[in-house]
Amino acid sequence: MNGNVTAPLSWVFTLVFVGFYVVAYQHSIHLWRWPYPRYILVALSFGMVLWLLVKMRFHLPWVTYWIEMADYAFLATLMYGYFKIQDKDRRIKDRLFQSANWDALTHVQNYAAYDRAIGYHFSRSLIRHNNLTMAMFDIDHFKCVNDTYGHLAGDEVLKQVSSTVVDVLKAKDEQIVLYRTGGEEFNVIFPGYTVAQAQPLVQEFFDRVKALRIPYNDVELNVTISVGVSSLHRTDHNPLDFYKRVDSHLYRSKKMGRQQITLE
Ligand code: GH3
Ligand code: MG
Ligand code: MG
Repeated sequence: MNGNVTAPLSWVFTLVFVGFYVVAYQHSIHLWRWPYPRYILVALSFGMVLWLLVKMRFHLPWVTYWIEMADYAFLATLMYGYFKIQDKDRRIKDRLFQSANWDALTHVQNYAAYDRAIGYHFSRSLIRHNNLTMAMFDIDHFKCVNDTYGHLAGDEVLKQVSSTVVDVLKAKDEQIVLYRTGGEEFNVIFPGYTVAQAQPLVQEFFDRVKALRIPYNDVELNVTISVGVSSLHRTDHNPLDFYKRVDSHLYRSKKMGRQQITLE
């Protein structure tokens, strides 16, 4: 704006800067070996182009050129340290986010993630008059698995049941998410679904879990689940009202003898 826009040299500088940014970014997203030598090589190559332009334009002596290049290498190294610290910071944050929202055993999202998701879907569905359905299931007589085969066998059952249900849901719709909301209790949120639309999927994962044969040491474990399903009512004041109705349906499945689905 102050006259530089019409100066060709300014545009050459800009292109060199953009080129440096693009190449440096490419190097940062690939986990190359020797990251520092690669970075400094890229930085020095682009720096040389810039300072050569300055040297030619202002007829600087070579000694000034080399001093500027040394300063530049020093600054680029400081910047590298700063980028590394930022990168480490980002990785720590990612890991914290991961452990705060994901269950380490089953690798599905946990209660904290469920709580946030149901709050979001509850408000959104009421405002937009969209359907919303939730299923909740609990493994039948799970304590028996732990008591008979040990806690590790129980853990294996939890992993296999979760991945079976996730496979069924993912194959149909990525928007449907499974959450481990308790020890052996899980919730599934079906955004945009009525109970009738969710039913075939619930039936499918119910059947798939029932058919599972989980090898553990010398035995094959087999479990069933009890399920409760309901959709959002306009009279639900908050996500807890919705949750309680789904839970009461699950409770009815248990009371009626387990290994069944109670739909509304
Ligand atoms: P019901 O059919 O009524 O649901 O009976 P149940 O035995 O499944 O129910 P209960 O609530 O009595 O038992 C749940 C058990 O789940 C108790 C607890 O030790 C176990 N559990 C909770 N979390 C884990 C876990 O991460 N790993 C293992 N192995 N067991 C767990
Ligand atoms: Mg149970
Ligand atoms: Mg339970």
